[in-house]
Amino acid sequence: MKSSILTRSLTILASTMIACSITARKPIKTLIVTGQNNHNWEVSHVVIKDILENSGLFSVDFAVSPEKGQDMSGFIVDFSPYKLVVLDYNGDAWPQETMTRFENYARKGGGIIVYHAADNSFPNWAEYNKICALGGWEGRDENAGPYAYWSGGELVKDLSPGRGGSHGRQHEYMMNARESDHPIIKGLPNRWAHAQDELYDRMRGPANISSLLYTAYSDTATGGSGREEPLMFTVEYGKARIFHTMPGHCGPAYANNPAMQCTGFQVTLLRGAEWAATGRVSQKIPKDFPTSTFITYRYDYKENRL
Ligand code: ZN
Repeated sequence: MKSSILTRSLTILASTMIACSITARKPIKTLIVTGQNNHNWEVSHVVIKDILENSGLFSVDFAVSPEKGQDMSGFIVDFSPYKLVVLDYNGDAWPQETMTRFENYARKGGGIIVYHAADNSFPNWAEYNKICALGGWEGRDENAGPYAYWSGGELVKDLSPGRGGSHGRQHEYMMNARESDHPIIKGLPNRWAHAQDELYDRMRGPANISSLLYTAYSDTATGGSGREEPLMFTVEYGKARIFHTMPGHCGPAYANNPAMQCTGFQVTLLRGAEWAATGRVSQKIPKDFPTSTFITYRYDYKENRL
């Protein structure tokens, strides 16, 4: 008698496990490219991995380059197994083979996230700058392309000469939606307060922005440009789906990292990542998303399931 109950319980357990494995979605295979940055990449790539994997939607591998100044010839990256590549790299040139593979991955419809200072990298690699649409620093000037900013209800491309890329002192700022029907931000507030962060300004490049999602006002009072700067957008490049997110300056430590602990940064990263990988966003709007008056944080990089 005892054994038959046990057998039946095991059968139920087994069928439940089969049902779960059928209904559970396969995580999206993701590669974070890192290893050199003028930022704290040792922290940022782990934070991004945790944000992505804590959602249950992604499984993350790393491609970690040699240290700055070391021999890069062995840094050959295979992008082909991945639906999503997250760029957290600002450093020495990749070998030609890796550059070519990355261009092919993008052109043929790969999903890409350009994160924060990744848009500083490779000022002389034309295709990379098209994949970013806007970049800054590293000698960029009018030869890189126009400045792009929001003015008079449209994205202005301004060819006036000058250096590309700067930011004032870090502060909290408001994100303003510009194309609120795009799947990445549909249902999110049109205005929400972002935690203390850098606000990139005077960025310039090919400016092949496809959908401008959020801008923020860069106040001269905090050392900014006095313009409404594009901070999150998608990029037109072959068949690629590219989400470029400029916020998310990495703090000094995993647990002391307000810009990346901001719920708004994390949710837009997750939604942008799913869209880049699949072309759609299945995630619900979380209850802990910030409002225009209230910044919220996920200190442990997990959704607060209220
Ligand atoms: Zn930064």
